[in-house]
Amino acid sequence: MKAPERFGVRIEMQTPLAPYTTMKVGGPADYFARVQTVDQLIRLVRWARNEALPYWILGGGSNVLIGDAGVRGLVIYNRCRRVRIDEAPCCVFPQDDRPFVFAESGAGMAGLARRTIAAGLAGLEWAVSLPGTVGGAVVNNAGAYGGEVKDNLYDVMVLGADDEIVETPAAQLRFGYRVSTLKAQPGSEDNDALAVVRPGFGPVVLSANFRLAHGEREAIEAQAEQNLRHRRRSQPVEPSLGSTFVNPPGDYAGRLIEAAGLKGFAIGGVQVSRQHANFLINPGGVGGATAADVIGLIRHIRRVVADRFGILLKPEIQLVGEFC
Ligand SMILES: Cc1cc2nc3c(=O)[nH]c(=O)nc-3n(C[C@H](O)[C@H](O)[C@H](O)COP(=O)(O)OP(=O)(O)OC[C@H]3O[C@@H](n4cnc5c(N)ncnc54)[C@H](O)[C@@H]3O)c2cc1C
Repeated sequence: MKAPERFGVRIEMQTPLAPYTTMKVGGPADYFARVQTVDQLIRLVRWARNEALPYWILGGGSNVLIGDAGVRGLVIYNRCRRVRIDEAPCCVFPQDDRPFVFAESGAGMAGLARRTIAAGLAGLEWAVSLPGTVGGAVVNNAGAYGGEVKDNLYDVMVLGADDEIVETPAAQLRFGYRVSTLKAQPGSEDNDALAVVRPGFGPVVLSANFRLAHGEREAIEAQAEQNLRHRRRSQPVEPSLGSTFVNPPGDYAGRLIEAAGLKGFAIGGVQVSRQHANFLINPGGVGGATAADVIGLIRHIRRVVADRFGILLKPEIQLVGEFC
């Protein structure tokens, strides 16, 4: 495990992952490494492939439930956070002066949005309080308040599964509701159809280019402020993973869970938020809820909602690693 030290990356063993997720739940990673530059990220992934050591990228940990038994393999904690605003070269884009916003994949999405808003650029107001990284947002096609990643993404730099670094136009990522072609396909499904993602050798997002429009700074700020206020009013502050289930066509998962009388229902240390029924909260933080509690509550909600309304809710969060 010494080789990555040549490029400045230290590999730890048995690192608890709960503190690295917004739910504050999850066991240890067999191996854990933090990367600060895209060069380190590329070299570490290539090294792991060479060693046949499966890896998994951890961004902000805001959409993943890590199993209590942790993650077998290498967890790569992405701290590549450089961001830059570039004017469009007029020789290449003579009719279109919309600037490019470059972000490394470990940059915080909310910070990126705030930076573009301060520069009077419109397009990322929806992301002003979105937890997580640019990489996680791209993979998931994150969205809120009528906006989503795909609306303004121009291209992404991807380290492909074949080891090639490819500039991929956004259109090739076939974005849908919280999905893209980059999203890891779950490796297995248990008998309650909860799919689990495990480390592998998949593609890695290195950076992204957004293309935003010049706009009226006060109006852009006002829109962002409105989104922020709405989020503060409607979402709990306790540790959570945001929306647990995707909205079924024509309805809202939160409405169904609330109508099933499950607001406030708890298993172990995890509870259905009274503020927003699609959020499961862990008020005790690290050491409070376990992944088993969360899985138990997810199963219970699915059963009750399916019995009451005939709709099987599909998790929006990803289950990662080993669940006892
Ligand atoms: C309070 C709260 C509110 C939320 N509100 C919203 C919302 O309004 N809209 C919304 O869409 N989501 C929301 N979410 C969910 C979450 O914030 C988003 O899904 C976010 O984009 C995930 O980013 P992340 O960096 O935390 O990803 P992680 O949770 O770290 O990872 C998610 C998946 O992406 C993969 N991944 C991450 N980075 C890379 C990379 N560079 N290359 C390849 N794969 C990668 C991971 O391996 C993992 O499989 C919310 C979450 C919370 C806790």
